[in-house]
Amino acid sequence: DLTIGVLALQGDVREHRAMLESCGVATTGVRRASELAGLDGIVLPGGESTTMYKLARHFDLFEPLRAAIADGLPAFGTCAGMIMLADHIESGIAGQETLGGLDVVVRRNAFGRQVDSFEAVVEFTPSWAEKFTYPATFIRAPYVEKVGDGVEVVASISGAGAGDRIVAVRQGRLLATSFHPEITGDTRIHELFVELVRS
Ligand code: GLN
Repeated sequence: DLTIGVLALQGDVREHRAMLESCGVATTGVRRASELAGLDGIVLPGGESTTMYKLARHFDLFEPLRAAIADGLPAFGTCAGMIMLADHIESGIAGQETLGGLDVVVRRNAFGRQVDSFEAVVEFTPSWAEKFTYPATFIRAPYVEKVGDGVEVVASISGAGAGDRIVAVRQGRLLATSFHPEITGDTRIHELFVELVRS
């Protein structure tokens, strides 16, 4: 059956492992390149993308992980993990690179100071599953500013006067959300990823 790795450098590692295990999937923490072998997918957790980037470089994991995703390893990024998966970021720190794979532009810390964190009920319309609504928690969250042709917008929220903000996208077997489904106890978005991995 499936084994899904969770990038275990920083952030919501335990939370993601618990959610995936509730979906009936075996999990393993990934800190070094050798631990990528045999994975059916990988989760890039919420946390701090700049720290995750520096640690991935430090552990010589950045290039192997980038290559694995480019070679088709299914990946699911939440919040900081969404930033890691984006081909382009706005408001990154100097020198911050991403693993890439998703043809999107993501803006970090995009909702601004006054709304550092908030909850919103988000409507999910995945092409590969039934649609549903989900209680989403956003914490210094990014959003997707631009999507390329091959990218499916899975969810957006309407910002007060600011137009719609894209908060979940899929491209092939890469999935990303601006918010943190790992901290809700509601496994439906992890299940969406597991279905992509199985497909
Ligand atoms: N602002 C964080 C970053 O840039 C992401 C926040 C989060 O994952 N909760 O990585």
